[in-house]
Amino acid sequence: MAAMDATPDTAPETYAGRLLAFTIPSRDARGRLVRLDSTLDEILAAHDYPPPITHLLAEALVLAVLMGGLVKDDGSQVTMQAQTEAGAVRLLVCDYKGGELRGYVDFDAARLAELGANPSLFALFGKGYLAITFDLARGKGRYQGIVPLEGDSLAEACERYFYQSEQVPTLIRCAVRSDGDGVRAAGLLVQHLAEGEEGRERLHTKLDHPEWEHVAILAGSLRHEELLDPALSLEAIAWRLFHEEEEVRVERGAAIARGCRCSVEHYREVLERFPEEDREDMRNEDGIVLVDCAFCSKQFGIEV
Ligand SMILES: [Zn+2]
Repeated sequence: MAAMDATPDTAPETYAGRLLAFTIPSRDARGRLVRLDSTLDEILAAHDYPPPITHLLAEALVLAVLMGGLVKDDGSQVTMQAQTEAGAVRLLVCDYKGGELRGYVDFDAARLAELGANPSLFALFGKGYLAITFDLARGKGRYQGIVPLEGDSLAEACERYFYQSEQVPTLIRCAVRSDGDGVRAAGLLVQHLAEGEEGRERLHTKLDHPEWEHVAILAGSLRHEELLDPALSLEAIAWRLFHEEEEVRVERGAAIARGCRCSVEHYREVLERFPEEDREDMRNEDGIVLVDCAFCSKQFGIEV
């Protein structure tokens, strides 16, 4: 962990493909910054989604990294799942584990087409819910919070999750842009830390704290164009927002990569746990069990 030096705005990006983690000790705050570049391209390339779904998934992946980056890189996993009863989007799932990221969306293409080019969150999900699950490694427990999918964005729903389920004041900014160069997505998460302690997964604190209000005003001044501007490094963004603070400690977070646990071996292991009569029902006429990985849009034929 190193204190942040004066960083010119044009400094080259030292956090390309990585999370940047920071703390502001005097304000009892911590934050995460990330830009998804090639990892986002790889995840999207596994699917053939129309623009509104691509946009939605890109935002969800940024959020999964920002929230996943709050837990220790020790096998802990963070999963986001957005679900609806009657929306055009039936299900969105993203998860993050030690820098590995994956996600997919299940949607009704015909209904989506009726919604136009820029459907609102409500138009996509109707009455929907967002479930966020922290599976902490080493027996530290599993926590799940469920909040309604309200507001203008998934980011807002995530802020509500932290506020309602964890009583941790949190500000999230997420920017997604699609143009000729493909899809770019980036985000900032800042939250208040109880007792100034970094590294605690469960934090309870007062919601109206003057130190937090100050940090939230500074962080809230970040514009979407700045988040996405390739000429502005993540360090430069942190510097721009918080350079008047006594100290900002910056730390290299996990390298971000597309990752999935699907493999023939994995599915064989899962299928071997089923009773033989169930496996018999699953086999096709060639004696093979076909398993789909929705994250990778791949089908596996398992002989088991
Ligand atoms: Zn997969």
